[in-house]
Amino acid sequence: MREAYLYKKLSGKKHAPHRDEISGAGVQCQNCAHYCVILPGKRGICGVRENVDGKLYALNYGKAIAVNIDPIEKKPFFHFLPGSYSLSIATVGCNFKCLSCQNHDISQMPQLTGKIEGQEISPEEIVKIALKNNLPSISYTYTEPTIFLEYALDTMKLAKKAGLKNNFVSNGFMTEESAKLVIPYLNANNIDIKSFSEDFYRESCGAKLQPVLNTAKLMKKSGVWVEITTLVIPTLSDSEKMFKDIATFIKEELGAETPWHISQFSGSISWKLQHLPDTPVETLEMAWKIGKETGLKYVYTGNIPGLPSEDTFCPKCQTLVIDRTNYIIHRYDKNGKCPKCSANLNLILK
Ligand code: SF4
Repeated sequence: MREAYLYKKLSGKKHAPHRDEISGAGVQCQNCAHYCVILPGKRGICGVRENVDGKLYALNYGKAIAVNIDPIEKKPFFHFLPGSYSLSIATVGCNFKCLSCQNHDISQMPQLTGKIEGQEISPEEIVKIALKNNLPSISYTYTEPTIFLEYALDTMKLAKKAGLKNNFVSNGFMTEESAKLVIPYLNANNIDIKSFSEDFYRESCGAKLQPVLNTAKLMKKSGVWVEITTLVIPTLSDSEKMFKDIATFIKEELGAETPWHISQFSGSISWKLQHLPDTPVETLEMAWKIGKETGLKYVYTGNIPGLPSEDTFCPKCQTLVIDRTNYIIHRYDKNGKCPKCSANLNLILK
């Protein structure tokens, strides 16, 4: 448990109407765009931050529920250290309640059971594991890194000092304060844009779209390498208009070189959408086509190994430069350039 880095103490009955009956005052968490007001003895929406006698604590600090070595393509990052492996860590908890969540056993554990499980591993130990295994990066992933910001940030600082890269796989629901805290240590961020509809974010995730778009723009503006992922859910997030809106946002606000991953949804592994079918390949292909027609240089389909739309082609002469099949990578680029026409392929190689 660690005192939260971003919160403020509140005073007055407006924020703590029952404070005469309880000890201490309310606090407001500044970590994510929910800005939870939390009374003493209570936790925020993520279930891992608790007001203890007027101070906010991250209960999940140093408690890793997952520590794995994954291909970076699994995150997915296709242009950041391609073909490398990354030490991937998470704690329990999440600030979203996505019906489609595939990691709900750990993301929703605190809210559903009150438990905050995890193996005690310090930031120093995490960095040691990465170095011992010759891994070039650490990924903060599986659940939402914003809700384990203190643990991630302390690890990121040590990792950067040791010459490692840091990346977030995030829903982007950060505040400007939390984004600015991690940006100096963050090299890459894969951000979900799950839909382009505030209704979808409210009804299917318990959140809002606009803060996600703000975070994506801030990360890009600050020099963090950004890739975007959209999980395409039949009937909920699969319209032509939505694909066009997301592709246009990426092109106009983040740049045509920003990779867009369009992933297949699988009902059987979702939290609460088992009744929905898997995304048809034709829908992903339609989204891919819309992305390309909008002018994005790198559009990829995900979760269906073997499709040519998993590969990278030179945006100028269409030469195959990276072949991918289920995390097996063959690179044909020359130090990030097309071997045929020398065009820049927007690869972060070190
Ligand atoms: S991280 Fe977000 S959800 Fe959790 S307590 Fe803070 S504002 Fe609330």
